[in-house]
Amino acid sequence: MLSDIEISNQASPQLISDIANKLGILSHELTSFGDAKAKVDPALLKRLVAKQQGKLIIVTAVTPTPHGEGKTVTTIGLTQGLAHIGKKSCACIRQPSMGPVFGVKGGAAGGGYAQVIPMQEMNLHLTGDIHAVSSAHNLAAAALDARLFHETRLSAAEFTRQSEQTALNIDPQQLLWRRVIDHNERSLRHITVGLGAINGPVHDSGFDITAASELMAILALSHDLTDMRKRIGRLVLALDTSANPITAEDLGVAGAMTAIMVEAIKPTLMQTINGQPCLIHAGPFANIAHGNSSIIADKIALKLADFVVTEAGFGSDMGFEKFCNIKVRESDKAPDAAVLVVTLKALKANSGIASDLDINKPDMDRLQAGFSNLNWHINNVAKYGVPVVVAINHFPTDSQAELDWLQHAVTKTAAFGCEISQSFAQGASGAEQLAKTVAAATEQTSNFKFLYDVNTTIISKLLTIAESGYGANNVTLTAQATQQMQRFEALGFSHLPLCIAKTPMSISHDPSIKGIPGDFELPVTELRLNAGAGFITALAGKVMTMPGLNIKPNYLNIDIDDAGHIIGLD
Ligand code: ADP
Ligand code: MG
Repeated sequence: MLSDIEISNQASPQLISDIANKLGILSHELTSFGDAKAKVDPALLKRLVAKQQGKLIIVTAVTPTPHGEGKTVTTIGLTQGLAHIGKKSCACIRQPSMGPVFGVKGGAAGGGYAQVIPMQEMNLHLTGDIHAVSSAHNLAAAALDARLFHETRLSAAEFTRQSEQTALNIDPQQLLWRRVIDHNERSLRHITVGLGAINGPVHDSGFDITAASELMAILALSHDLTDMRKRIGRLVLALDTSANPITAEDLGVAGAMTAIMVEAIKPTLMQTINGQPCLIHAGPFANIAHGNSSIIADKIALKLADFVVTEAGFGSDMGFEKFCNIKVRESDKAPDAAVLVVTLKALKANSGIASDLDINKPDMDRLQAGFSNLNWHINNVAKYGVPVVVAINHFPTDSQAELDWLQHAVTKTAAFGCEISQSFAQGASGAEQLAKTVAAATEQTSNFKFLYDVNTTIISKLLTIAESGYGANNVTLTAQATQQMQRFEALGFSHLPLCIAKTPMSISHDPSIKGIPGDFELPVTELRLNAGAGFITALAGKVMTMPGLNIKPNYLNIDIDDAGHIIGLD
């Protein structure tokens, strides 16, 4: 079979203006970036205010493994499959971060015959939104350090006389705003800034990957530009010497940050290999952030299509949980159905049984042992009252006996149905049966419920997520986390939902615990207030907000050929 980029290059994309036209977007609501990408003006939501929304389908998965489960492949394949059975469909997915593109994972446009094309345009830059987020974020960092510099070198009165602003009395030990860059840059995790006599007070700082920026979460959760402006204003950048929060509004930088974001708030329209529309917008990771594409893109798609398929990052304990408890609270649109992606390989890798046997070879013992992980995720999704369809993402190495066993085993669970998806190898027709079953699932009465009541204490929300969300016995808090919890409650932020930052490789906080973890306590080491995005992040276990490049990174494969075409990007 051809590589992903070869398949993408061989496809014949339609003009993006034609795709937009068929979807119902008017020409003045579209700004084209060449023939294959266009930004969509969210102003169309006002035009379509009276129109009914379509059905929302969320794609999630079992606990991820290094083999790749295929959520994006299934999201795009299902969108193609729905069109194939005569439904008007649209996909909504996140913009790939260049960290993973050049690191381990490679591209994030789907794969095989279930792709967004041209995949290299989606995977690199797209229409520049991630650059805008980095730039607006780093403007706040520059503004904060400049303010500290000027306030330190002048008396408060002289500062006010010259700057016509009131001194903020920034505590140099409490600068909470770091820098971001969209690469895996471990050497920048911890840095010292202000070195040299004339460069301001020396202090610690560091870089996170842009996907971890609170501004990325704001982009994904904002309702419109006015709402984004308010959220940016609420960003807490530092504390003053009396431990009061200093916001981007206080610093006077919120307006300029929003100005950098005015184009980024518009989702980018591209197309699948079969010409179905796909809106790409925002890119928060699901381990260190909330892991879902934007509310604005979903809203636009729901007005224009009858079926909207979107993807939540990692397993259902991660992106799906955050979709339900963070995004739905903002968007007011609960999913009508969920698709739970599984592969034979993933179940074997989740079995907890070590084996020298090639994971692609039949191994009924490991498959049966790993099934409990799938059953846990089915029940986890069902807990929210959302009908769940299991999609077995088919690989050429899969044995029929194992597929038959798995499909039969799912009939005894709480799942609405289970279909084999062959969209990677066959495109739209390979997802026909999946599309039919998912469409039927959306006809079920949805009884959506949140996992926790947001108007309780932080500790009770933490306990509910740990116990009902992961199956833990308890939560432990470090002295630092306890202190932060008390501070956030005193500041009036206890009503915010929680965003747990933890490993995606286990339902617990410990990546070495496979299957269904039992008898563990969730250790919360730190709480971070994300007042702009509107949640409190709780760090559980070892979590990196800046990945590193491994010894054999993906960038080694990427180059250009004599004609200037990008090669090796898969
Ligand atoms: P996820 O969204 O779950 O992280 P992706 O859909 O991005 O996973 O797929 C991960 C990788 O696995 C991609 O490189 C993709 O091309 C590959 N892949 C996914 N499904 C299949 C399949 N059915 N056959 C072969 N390769 C696949
Ligand atoms: Mg994906």
